[in-house]
Amino acid sequence: MRAYHHWIGGKDAVGHGPDRVTRSSPAHGALLASYAAGTAEDVDRAAQTAAAAQVGWAAMTGMERAGRITALADLILRDRERLAVIEAEEAGKTIRDARGELSHSANLARYAAALAWEIPGRAQSHHGDSALGLVTYEPRGVVGMITPWNFPAVTLFQKLPYALAAGNAVVIKPSELTSGTTLEIARLAAEAGIPDGVINVVTGKGTVVGTAMIEHPLVDMISFTGSTRAGTEIGAACARQVKRAGLELGGKAANVVFADADLDDALDGALFGTILNAGQECVAGTRILVERRIAKDFTEALVERAAKLRVGMPLDETADIASVIHEAHMTSVLGHIETARKEGARIAAGGHRKLDGDFGKGYFVQPSILADVTPSMTYFREEVFGPVASITVFDTIEEAVALANDTTYGLGNGLWTKDVDKALQLSKRLKSGTVWVNTYLDGAPQMPFGGYKRSGLGRENGIEGLIEFMDVKSTFIRLGKRTKALGHTAA
Ligand code: NAD
Repeated sequence: MRAYHHWIGGKDAVGHGPDRVTRSSPAHGALLASYAAGTAEDVDRAAQTAAAAQVGWAAMTGMERAGRITALADLILRDRERLAVIEAEEAGKTIRDARGELSHSANLARYAAALAWEIPGRAQSHHGDSALGLVTYEPRGVVGMITPWNFPAVTLFQKLPYALAAGNAVVIKPSELTSGTTLEIARLAAEAGIPDGVINVVTGKGTVVGTAMIEHPLVDMISFTGSTRAGTEIGAACARQVKRAGLELGGKAANVVFADADLDDALDGALFGTILNAGQECVAGTRILVERRIAKDFTEALVERAAKLRVGMPLDETADIASVIHEAHMTSVLGHIETARKEGARIAAGGHRKLDGDFGKGYFVQPSILADVTPSMTYFREEVFGPVASITVFDTIEEAVALANDTTYGLGNGLWTKDVDKALQLSKRLKSGTVWVNTYLDGAPQMPFGGYKRSGLGRENGIEGLIEFMDVKSTFIRLGKRTKALGHTAA
């Protein structure tokens, strides 16, 4: 079992309180790790340390910051196997998914590092001959980051390298279920030459550590990824203090399949969108909408492919899908399937827990396909966050758009068609921050990511993801002798 303290000021920091949080494997029950249960005093120490370190970090050139963030990316790749095992065991995900997550995290860091070379800004020379305007972007200061358990590394790396590139220092509160890789990566940051105190990690419960971060006067911004439920509370708490909050929240994506799609690709993408990370994915393609004339064949082919997936232990190299995060979550996913059945859905594949052999010691849900799902059913509305997808049939483009947008969420959607006009016109009408066309869960660090509607506020990745972590300053410079203009000053 690994035992950790907080990480503050470039070293292990023993927590102020005596309590510990333990994490057992959701796949086989063995005790994996123990973490300090942080207190408001721990957050205070981390925030003060971060605020002091931020000044020197922001004073470095962008080129210097970029070099150290890139070095961190290299170290993550050097230690990828070790980190992937921690990630797979704590999150219960497959080792192949965990490796992919860490590689993607390194790419996010490399791209964000490149942004530090050229922090945006502009000069305005059109204020007449005797004036110049400068619009500059400055780091916010100390950013508090609160991250979830489903992709502990990627959700962190959609924030951390961008905030660092911008010149901020950070206090991170990882999920209490999956804090291991965040602490290990903070250690690597020290080896990469990121100054002590720029990255601090306080582990523990959201309601204690997260709340203390939100309320701390030295924390200038909160960047949160997690459920819409917690995000709503955090957004409201930040608003009370007029503190900036970036919110990356839940989703209920539609994957729209037209009859003119490459059906082999569409089947593959629909299945991938359902089972990646056992469906515990904010942009899981959980509502598959299929054009009526192919619906029967498509459903049969999807069920056939789902049956071939291998459910396995996290470290099993051949597993396509491993466990869900904990028992209560498994019960919730199975409850959603049962409610769908009672409301009239047909369980075309899976629908139950995998219990045979050693699987009974963990929380495994078979990949599941629900057919005949209608918008009035609970499944169609609520984020289920498990390896489950539904099939809903449509006849016209109008109906497909209405169904896809019939949700309070708006994080991602997919569509499959070989008709380029249809794809482009439709993608404009889908109310989500991301639309995938003839692919799913694809993209690059340069593409901004975030939600419409109740899926969030703000954007991560891309240049937009850098600017989220910056304040904008206007400097208006009068050149030469100022003309006195009483009564005609700026409003
Ligand atoms: P969660 O909201 O329960 O917890 C997320 C984090 O917030 C954890 O670190 C938790 O300790 C902390 N937290 C919880 N309540 C808090 C509070 N009141 N104040 C401060 N901190 C608090 O989410 P989860 O179950 O860990 O993750 C799953 C959710 O995350 C899903 O809804 C999923 O869609 C969402 N998610 C969104 C994205 C995205 O980019 N939009 C990415 C991944 C996950």
